[in-house]
Amino acid sequence: MRLTIKLSTLLLIIMITVNTSAQEAACTRLDQTLLFPKGEKIKNSNFTGTAYLQMLVEADSQNNNSIGNVTFEPGARTRWHIHPAGQILLVTDGVGYVQEKGKPKRVVRKGDVVVFPPNVSHWHGASADSAFVQIAITGREKGETIWQEIVTDEEYRQ
Ligand code: MN
Repeated sequence: MRLTIKLSTLLLIIMITVNTSAQEAACTRLDQTLLFPKGEKIKNSNFTGTAYLQMLVEADSQNNNSIGNVTFEPGARTRWHIHPAGQILLVTDGVGYVQEKGKPKRVVRKGDVVVFPPNVSHWHGASADSAFVQIAITGREKGETIWQEIVTDEEYRQ
């Protein structure tokens, strides 16, 4: 009788343990699932390295903001550039770098929010060792992005 109780208790513990492990495994898999599609490889010269864009919302007469999901492979980054109406980045995965002209480069990670004011020159991209995924919300009411010089390897490493 005593042995039976102990065995059933042991079985219950094993069942709970197995179930917890299964749930943890499911969570791990969920984290690896893309939130939004990766989109198409960016082929223009406004980016250094390999990056992908999936447009999510285009600006139109009803809405001033465009929203795009951008995935940067390690080392990939934008040119220096200006958004006449500013930009907000929501970091959804990985580790990236952001920098405004005249300020130090900052490291940003999944869950960080970055606000670039209107007409402030800046760049953003992946860190050297990790990919970086951002949702970029860009005001379009004052014109398109103004692309500037490339971010040199020296600037990137600083
Ligand atoms: Mn930008």
